[in-house]
Formats: sequence, C-alpha cells, structure tokens
Amino acid sequence: MDCIFCKIVAGEIPSKPVYEDEWVYAFYDIAPQAPTHVLVIPRTHIASANDVTEENAELLAHIFAAIPKIAQLCGLENGYRVITNVGEDGCQSVRHLHFHVLGGKKLPETMV
Ligand code: 5GP
Ligand code: ZN
Repeated sequence: MDCIFCKIVAGEIPSKPVYEDEWVYAFYDIAPQAPTHVLVIPRTHIASANDVTEENAELLAHIFAAIPKIAQLCGLENGYRVITNVGEDGCQSVRHLHFHVLGGKKLPETMV
C-alpha cells in the first residue's frame, strides 16, 4: 500500500516526532496552519474517520487519551482545536486517519 503516513510510521519518510507510544504517533505537520500544528495518527492503517468501526473503539479511546498529553507537551494550556477531514468534500488529502491538533494562538471561530 502506498500510504505516506504508513511510511512515516515505519520511518521510511522522515518526520519530527512530538509523542509516540505503541498505538499512536504524533509529529509536526510539514505545512503548519497555526503556530502549533501536530498530526496524530494510529500506527495501523485506517483510511479515515468514516472507516472507524466498533473494533477500533480501544484505539480511538487511546488516541483521544494521548491528545491531552500531546497538547501539554506542546504548551497548549490555553486550548486548541482537533480536526479530522474526511473524503473528497472534507478535503482529506492523506487517506490515513489523522487528527490535526492546532493551537498556539486564538483560532478563527469557524472553519467555513
Ligand atoms: P488532510 O488534508 O488530509 O486533512 O491533512 C494532511 C496533512 O498532512 C496536511 O496538513 C499536510 O500538510 C500534511 N502532510 C502531507 N504530507 C506530509 C509529510 O510528508 N510530512 C508531514 N509532516 N506532514 C505531511
Ligand atoms: Zn496508512
């Protein structure tokens, strides 16, 4: 499978790590859209949030438990935004589930 985020998890494409554990890898986005812009991904390939099933419940809980740790590591004590884009209309450009963690300034109230 030709998935750039699977290659990043495997270390085949370099990235700047923020946090990692046995389930999750978090790294800085290559084209940041906020002062802090981190991508949080599962180590296993899931195409998008639209492909999550009950079988992924433990993994998803683990990702959302990791996000506050990542926010703390990044000094986002004043808040942040978590976004996942899905499919064509959601403008998902990488088809490996990922959560954008954005912060470091007051973000725009709406995204649309
Ligand atoms: P999406 O548009 O799918 O929601 O988000 C994909 C994100 O991945 C974009 O913000 C893009 O900048 C980031 N990205 C794409 N390729 C790479 C890469 O090779 N390395 C890193 N660190 N980020 C990437
Ligand atoms: Zn993948």
